[in-house]
Amino acid sequence: MDCIFCKIAQKQAPAQIAYEDDEFIAFHDIRPKAPLHLLLVPKKHIPSLQESQEGDAELLGKLLLRAQKVAQEKQVKGYKLAMNVGKEGGQEIDHIHLHLLAQ
Ligand code: AMP
Ligand code: ZN
Repeated sequence: MDCIFCKIAQKQAPAQIAYEDDEFIAFHDIRPKAPLHLLLVPKKHIPSLQESQEGDAELLGKLLLRAQKVAQEKQVKGYKLAMNVGKEGGQEIDHIHLHLLAQ
């Protein structure tokens, strides 16, 4: 599958990895919009939130909890989370991901 975030998760494409576990990977955005700009990505290929299903509920919940963990590890005091959904919503990469932005 020609998905850059799947390739990063499988180490077939380079990225500056900030966090990884069995189900998620976080890496630095190549065009950072804040001093800290990470992308938190489930390793499972889900194209967008609109394509996620009831069976993904646990994974989606964990996505938020991993954001909390990564923010804690990065020792940021506060942060913004953002998810673009669909082309019209500003989504460029068709693999669900959460932006974590902090100073
Ligand atoms: P979105 O618009 O929500 O789909 O966000 C995609 C983000 O991925 C953008 O902020 C891009 O700068 C970033 N991006 C695209 N390709 C890469 C890559 N190979 N490594 C890291 N970040 C990337
Ligand atoms: Zn993918």
